[in-house]
Amino acid sequence: MKQPQNLLIKNPIAVMTGLRGAGARAGRVDLRIRDGRIVEMAADLAPQPDERVIDASRHVVYPGGVNSHHHLFQNLLKAVPEGMNQDLQGWLASVPYPRLDLFTPQLVRTAARLGMAELLLSGATACADHHYLYFGGGTTETGDALFDIAGEFGMRFALCRGGALESANAHPGFSKTALAPETLDAMIGDIERLKARYHQSASDAMRRVVVAPTTPTFSLPPTLLRELAAAARGLGLRLHTHLSETQNYVDFCRSKYNLLPVEFVAEHDWLGPDVWFAHMVHVQPSEIRLLAQTGTGVSHCPVSNARLGSGIAPIPQMAAAGVPISIGVDGVASNESGSMTGELNTAWLIHRAAGGAAATLAEDVIHWGSAGGARVLGLDDVGTLEVGKAADLVLYELDHPRFFGFHDPALAPVTAGEPAPVSHSIVNGRLVVENGLIPGLDLEQLHRDAAEGVRQLMGRT
Ligand SMILES: [Zn+2]
Repeated sequence: MKQPQNLLIKNPIAVMTGLRGAGARAGRVDLRIRDGRIVEMAADLAPQPDERVIDASRHVVYPGGVNSHHHLFQNLLKAVPEGMNQDLQGWLASVPYPRLDLFTPQLVRTAARLGMAELLLSGATACADHHYLYFGGGTTETGDALFDIAGEFGMRFALCRGGALESANAHPGFSKTALAPETLDAMIGDIERLKARYHQSASDAMRRVVVAPTTPTFSLPPTLLRELAAAARGLGLRLHTHLSETQNYVDFCRSKYNLLPVEFVAEHDWLGPDVWFAHMVHVQPSEIRLLAQTGTGVSHCPVSNARLGSGIAPIPQMAAAGVPISIGVDGVASNESGSMTGELNTAWLIHRAAGGAAATLAEDVIHWGSAGGARVLGLDDVGTLEVGKAADLVLYELDHPRFFGFHDPALAPVTAGEPAPVSHSIVNGRLVVENGLIPGLDLEQLHRDAAEGVRQLMGRT
């Protein structure tokens, strides 16, 4: 992996900090980076002899995006015809489930390279991947493969270690293949192995392991849900899962447990500042209060929710109540794009369409996409551009007719739709994108590998 460099980012058009309110904008300041940290932010900083100067005079600087929910393996399942016009349940049954047994570690590597390349080139510097390709007696190497590729790209990476523990007959995914779910012991055993090998607990960790059964309502019996939470907390690991993505979750919980989904997970110790849930589209005000009171976070995935017709999560209401909000691109089998700035743009727009022009501020969306993600991951030194914080930042180049004419160019990457070009991206003081390219990435080879992967995954229903 590359070493951190001494860097001076000179003369940016504007700097957004990822903070909310008055601190959201730092103005036209230079940023000095040493040993992976931001050490100075001020106008007209003089270059030092031992530092590399990056001319940012045609750029705006943003905090690195923290993508808080993804399924990287799905990068080889974009626009699968059988699932294009299906809702979540139909899409699950026709796109990922019939192919779960086909994902070798090699295919996962190719998919992860595609996904991480797109994330880095669209403004993300950190990714939490909800990875659930774990089966009884199957390989656990795909999780290791994801850490390898994150290392190759220099991304901050959290493996949210998923999987199911329900009986094979009861879980809809497994009925499509010859696969069986894991035992609790096997899952916890692998989580302990992953923790020992990869997990860093520091507030600027590059690698994290998170305990993340695929769906608490469908993927495991409730008693094991509580046991998993206890095991995670005993290991000092955070908790993540899907919740309330569709009305289906609510109906299932009500009919089976006579509880709303958030009440159900509360009964099984799955609320708290160490927990975040993806989606939360269908929630009642009483559930929002529970999330806020317990500091439980949310990963908002607006494009996937729109693509699958799941609905629009009441994010402005949750944010107003004090629920920690972050942004996830979700798997691109239900998105077709893993673009971080694309997701921010949709988040900015969709709540206005639903709730009026004051529903979302661009500054708040930037905050959710950076500091919000760092908060749910517990990366306290990441997510904002401030002196002393980790140097994770992105330079968007506005040297394109689409960005000419802006009175407030600072907001161009979030408001202009089509993802703004990332010219440079820095993670922990290391340049991971330079002049719009990922150093060392062989795009021709990746293209060939992707085509071969698609060929292997085609036509399974
Ligand atoms: Zn998901």
